[in-house]
Amino acid sequence: MKIAIIGAGFTGLSAAYYISQEKHKVYVFEKDQNPGGLAVGYLEKNWEWTLEKHYHHWFTNDNSILSLARKIDHKIIIKRPKTSVYVDSEIYQFDSPLHLLQFPKLKIYDRLRMAAILGSLKYNPFWQPLESIKTNEFLQNAMGKNAYQTIWEPQLHNKFGDYADDISLAWFWARINKRTAQLAYPSGGFLTFANALVKKIEENGGKFLFNTEIREIKQLKNFDKIIVTLPSFYFVKIAPQLPNVYKQNLLQLKGLGAINLILRLKKPFLPDNTYWLSICDKESPIMAIVEHTNFMDSKHYNNEHIVYLGNYVPHDHPYMKLSANELLKIYDPYLRKINPNYTLDAINYTLFKAPFAQPIIPTYYSKIIPTLETPLKNVFLANMQQVYPWDRGTNYAVELGEKIAQII
Ligand SMILES: Cc1cc2nc3c(=O)[nH]c(=O)nc-3n(C[C@H](O)[C@H](O)[C@H](O)COP(=O)(O)OP(=O)(O)OC[C@H]3O[C@@H](n4cnc5c(N)ncnc54)[C@H](O)[C@@H]3O)c2cc1C
Repeated sequence: MKIAIIGAGFTGLSAAYYISQEKHKVYVFEKDQNPGGLAVGYLEKNWEWTLEKHYHHWFTNDNSILSLARKIDHKIIIKRPKTSVYVDSEIYQFDSPLHLLQFPKLKIYDRLRMAAILGSLKYNPFWQPLESIKTNEFLQNAMGKNAYQTIWEPQLHNKFGDYADDISLAWFWARINKRTAQLAYPSGGFLTFANALVKKIEENGGKFLFNTEIREIKQLKNFDKIIVTLPSFYFVKIAPQLPNVYKQNLLQLKGLGAINLILRLKKPFLPDNTYWLSICDKESPIMAIVEHTNFMDSKHYNNEHIVYLGNYVPHDHPYMKLSANELLKIYDPYLRKINPNYTLDAINYTLFKAPFAQPIIPTYYSKIIPTLETPLKNVFLANMQQVYPWDRGTNYAVELGEKIAQII
């Protein structure tokens, strides 16, 4: 069979890898010049490793992608970086039961209650009964107002904005259930790993057409089967012949875009070696600060210290229209609040935007998930909005790619 895959993100790469092993002819069409999709990387002068435009890591139980990396002999680095929260102008390490029990901003009763609830979510294997419950209501009732308002409410607000009160507990359960203290990262960066996959697929006879945007699915009429890996609203755009009811069902699925301002600093920003800092302050202009070089060694990046200032926002949010300079002006006073010794001693800074990056998972999401088969004969949809209950990620993109390959 001759199979077209639209998109060389990790869903498209994984589908192409598994299908090409079955000796079918695979053609991957990608509008960007590189593979990797939302996890795509880039290289600056004198850097040994590529860096993701948006921060990325794996959990050590991300088995689908880790086993794919092993299959192609790609080296994986495993480390236990520090994760912290910023509460009332202080940074507190917050990545183990012990740190939670020592957290000074809550009374011991609230800490014990939070630990009990997180523990029960971590070890409860049944997510289905949770999908009818809203995260905000559950956390407030189960952990108490203080714990909710100190840690979780600001994080939900900063991540989901106007959707913060809509998120299903099944999504929160998945975040807690899946998280591992140790994290993994592909040697050389995600772009290096994606390029290694491209090479293997090409060795299996697959073809990649980069810088090739598919504007209408009709362009691919000579293929036996087509796999679309784009977010659903792009699928609707390139396939106007889809029935209206199906289109409406896809368009009701909501999502947020992502923006990351990457600072390349001469000195670390978080000198306590925190990799991931969640900002528990609803007034903060930044959702999370991720100091990549507190996870991977700065020697791979010419000894620069790399810091992501990350936000999720709707695609029409004012931040989406700002330049790196304009955004930095907004962020700068807050950066000084977090680290009073910080001065912008930057080698450079760069802004990356992705209009669709994080699906919104409301209650009963299982009832509205699109199927892999579409109303169009021999056209399949495999995208982030079908990942559930787990939070979308490259691991699930690989799992989805493998699933669609099996169906085909
Ligand atoms: C800020 C942020 C942080 C994240 N952190 C992590 C993390 O730590 N760990 C993790 O595993 N995952 C993380 N993710 C999620 C992960 O990046 C995604 O789940 C995964 O990359 C989705 O892969 P995909 O192939 O399904 O979609 P995409 O990556 O969106 O791929 C779709 C591809 O289609 C291409 N395309 C679009 N339109 C066309 C067209 N018309 N014609 C041809 N090509 C087209 C795009 O250029 C893109 O390459 C993060 C994402 C973001 C935004």
